[in-house]
Amino acid sequence: MDRAENALLEGLNPPQREAVTYRGPALLIVAGAGSGKTRVLTHRIASLLHSREAYPSQILAITFTNKAAGEMRERVEQIVGENARGMWISTFHSACVRILRREAENFGFTKAFTIYDSGDSRALIKRLVRDHDGDAFGFTPAGVQSRISKLKNELADAESYARQANMSDPAERLFVEIFADYQRGLQKANAFDFDDLIAQTVYLFRAFPKVADVYRRRFRHILVDEYQDTNHAQYALIHELTRPVGAGESDPYSVGGMMIFEPEKDPLLEGASLTVVGDSDQSIYAFRGADIRNISEFERDFPGAKVVLLEQNYRSTQNILSAANAVIGHNFDRKDKKLWTDSGDGEKIVGFTGYSQHDEAQFIADEIERLRKADVDYAEIAVFYRTNSQSRALEEIFIRAAVPYKIMGGTKFYERAEIKDALAYLIAVANPADEMAVRRILNKPRRGIGDVTETAIARYAADQQITFRDALANASALGVGPKIQAAIAHLDAVLVEATEKMLPASGELAPPTAVAEGLQLLLSKSGYLDALRASKDPQDEARVENLDELVAVAREFARNNPDGTVIDFLGEVALVADADDLDDATGSVSLMTMHTAKGLEYDTVFLTGVEEDLIPHRISAGEPGGPQEERRLFYVGVTRARQRLYLTLAMTRAQFGEVSVAMPSRFLQEIPAPLIDWRQSPGDVNSRGGMQSRALNARPGRGGQSGGWGSRGGSNRYGGDLVPKGTSIDKIANRIPAKVRDNGDMELATGDRIRHDDFGEGRVDAVTGEGAKRVAHVRFDDGATKKLLIKIAPITKL
Ligand code: ATP
Ligand code: MG
Repeated sequence: MDRAENALLEGLNPPQREAVTYRGPALLIVAGAGSGKTRVLTHRIASLLHSREAYPSQILAITFTNKAAGEMRERVEQIVGENARGMWISTFHSACVRILRREAENFGFTKAFTIYDSGDSRALIKRLVRDHDGDAFGFTPAGVQSRISKLKNELADAESYARQANMSDPAERLFVEIFADYQRGLQKANAFDFDDLIAQTVYLFRAFPKVADVYRRRFRHILVDEYQDTNHAQYALIHELTRPVGAGESDPYSVGGMMIFEPEKDPLLEGASLTVVGDSDQSIYAFRGADIRNISEFERDFPGAKVVLLEQNYRSTQNILSAANAVIGHNFDRKDKKLWTDSGDGEKIVGFTGYSQHDEAQFIADEIERLRKADVDYAEIAVFYRTNSQSRALEEIFIRAAVPYKIMGGTKFYERAEIKDALAYLIAVANPADEMAVRRILNKPRRGIGDVTETAIARYAADQQITFRDALANASALGVGPKIQAAIAHLDAVLVEATEKMLPASGELAPPTAVAEGLQLLLSKSGYLDALRASKDPQDEARVENLDELVAVAREFARNNPDGTVIDFLGEVALVADADDLDDATGSVSLMTMHTAKGLEYDTVFLTGVEEDLIPHRISAGEPGGPQEERRLFYVGVTRARQRLYLTLAMTRAQFGEVSVAMPSRFLQEIPAPLIDWRQSPGDVNSRGGMQSRALNARPGRGGQSGGWGSRGGSNRYGGDLVPKGTSIDKIANRIPAKVRDNGDMELATGDRIRHDDFGEGRVDAVTGEGAKRVAHVRFDDGATKKLLIKIAPITKL
């Protein structure tokens, strides 16, 4: 063993070494978080290169993100130097793009093909649904898109789907037609959608064995990280690539009318060696079709596969691991594996309950500054949340506290397209001379105003020497068709109505709530919100949440600036966005969702919003396996931390201008109480005091929980109450800004009708709780149901 090879193996424990040095057709490394799976994969590549068993070009390594690919390449280069060039280390998608660029001409595409993102493919599907009168069958573009996506991930195309579908059902027939037309549309546009990139590569290999052989011959070592999150199409791709060269039938050709079946000239070259690493406890993409069974069935698919288990964790302290083990232990249907470390217990996990999400964010900012003074680098700190919209409160406080941060894997709140659209609507009202803003909203949501019309408006404005905005008021003079005229006139009317609300011409001051109300008016009457709500795309759901957040910001603005106008509001928002460009010299704190955090590690991790309905997220409740997947996501979050873990939550959370009371997440209860040092526990907000810390870890059916916030008694999973048992609502109310509505002892009973400032009118279905904690369960006339804290909700009895 030479020195370099020594270095390769030196920092590894015996099972890790075995995984690096094992040579054979198939190797499965299963292990919990932080046990060195990715490290082993990296060292294994380095070892293959160093020993000259493989050329770099013979290596194909698949990671889950481009960032992870970059890091792995860097690490291999550190170990073996220049020698690393020519390897393919990439995600499934980028590997397939490379293959398709070379091979697309084999099946009717050119190498200049376009990749349709979700919006592009949605637009195509939308047109098809319309052309086929899909609405008659209740088809929505988003619904059709997600069905097609699922089928493609299962490698089904329109034909194969038709063979097993009930084709006597007209809705099924229609779906198949749309699916087929969609595929034809893509082909005509020389485009692949995201799912096609994988699926079409598989079809390519199956239809053209000679082409597949080129890649089978080339990639002799295939390594896949995060194997638990591969879907069926990705699994099939790996299968195709690892088959022996010449395994496909050779293409017959004809000479003088006689078919010649030429035997493969090459002796059968064995299939590539395959190494996969994964952790079924970290499977968090089942909603995208990932299949944990890919791991459990690996040994069946690759008989004789070597399996290596890693159990020692090198990332986290024992306290963090014990918490992670305890939580994931609540998932059934899993192989129990326990992680351990010899790095000692470390610090206790710190818990904190804020009165509001601002309070929570302030605590985090304060802690970060405290750590910073103790010489902790910003770059070694990460803050995680479940949904993107949660970043807003954090960003605002961080900006005020001058904590440098960067958002990973997503755009900053005010840079998001939907937020920019909403602000453009406000700008069109506040400063109609800003033509760019008006142009931006012209066709958002889509209302049939295309480039030609846009040009006509601009020309008319120039001719008449009026602004682009004012030209909208003269739709009939533009020389466009009646539908487009109507669309323009509608947009104009919405803008006029919002202007009257926010900037009354009479010179009187608009009420402070005008900005929020005007914003809501713009978003609803323009059809913008409806378009997002009609979509089934989870991204669009997130966009609605983000817009809710923006309305909440506007309400808050009104509370803080009783005389503020829409112009002041826009100025303030612009400053927040501008201040983002902070000095990066000492690094920044990383903000990201828990999904983005997979595979990463930080010295200090703040896991925020640890509340019911956030983690586990409310959308998971109705999904089969949903809560279990949320628990794995929580496990992923916890296991990112090396030394310090903070679990934070808020007792109240303002969403859509409404302050609602949040419940601590069930996952907190699953962590043994002695592991957490509560700086401020949910029980500290408990007026009865005393019982709370013991009650914190109480289990259903046992004693000692009566006054605890976490008691799970009662028939309902959440204890039947929106408000945690024993919570002193006054304590919460004291921290709610004075401007928040106080309805005193408003009496409501089942059957009463109410009006809510934001949601409109509805009927009370039930009232639960007592005194200040009474909650009205309201069914609004638009069908939405909400639970409202009667004391503070902006409601009026009708
Ligand atoms: P995840 O499941 O989160 O993806 P993983 O199993 O891929 O985790 P790695 O990221 O490879 O784990 O390793 C976790 C940390 O432990 C890294 O910082 C890595 O460098 C370190 N590590 C792994 N093995 C060893 C070892 N034998 N000695 C010292 N440090 C190690
Ligand atoms: Mg890893």
